[in-house]
Amino acid sequence: MQQVFANNFVPKGRYICLNCSKEFILEKREYLRPCDECGYNQFKANIILQMSGDELKEKCRDVIRVLEVSTFLFEEKGQKEFLNVMAINLRLLLCDGENSLLPKVYKNPQFNKANAKYKDNVLLPKDLFFNELEQVDLNTFLGTVLAYPRNARPITVKKCIRSVANKLGGAHVDSEMESDAFLSGTLAKYYITEVAKYIIDMCEFDYKKDIGEFLNLMR
Ligand SMILES: [Zn+2]
Repeated sequence: MQQVFANNFVPKGRYICLNCSKEFILEKREYLRPCDECGYNQFKANIILQMSGDELKEKCRDVIRVLEVSTFLFEEKGQKEFLNVMAINLRLLLCDGENSLLPKVYKNPQFNKANAKYKDNVLLPKDLFFNELEQVDLNTFLGTVLAYPRNARPITVKKCIRSVANKLGGAHVDSEMESDAFLSGTLAKYYITEVAKYIIDMCEFDYKKDIGEFLNLMR
């Protein structure tokens, strides 16, 4: 049995609510919502079938393509709502625990280490992938602190991605209210954009070429 959180894509399997014990079966990989009986967001699960290697590669490719297009629409076309789409796709790639796509397809991805100089308790976005010579693994990267807000726990890369991704997710009320003010401010978008571009580059996608193809499709 594995413990699984709602508001993620999950493999097919049998899921049991950890609050009210309601049990249900997902017949295919899909988005796991909070318990429809009691609203709780944690489950234990018997995951019946994981995706095959080829399915994972294809899924990962699709997610990175959506990440490219949403980054373009957000950054170059000023379509603000696509920041949320970027964060949702980064969450699928990086922050989905055991189901995160990137480490399944790209074994043990490495990230340039941040330059841990904080200005007014905040890491400048340009310092996030500062040191090319010193690399860290995915979990260390996700734990990089972006800011130390007053009266709240530090905001990490993982928290920033999840918070922006959950913004349109509706009923996601948790103990992270304090940091929401910070994340809904101006900085989160720069971090999300930095991470998106770094991941696209790391996976050796040709951003300019892919966006060119996308624009051709739109004609
Ligand atoms: Zn329940």
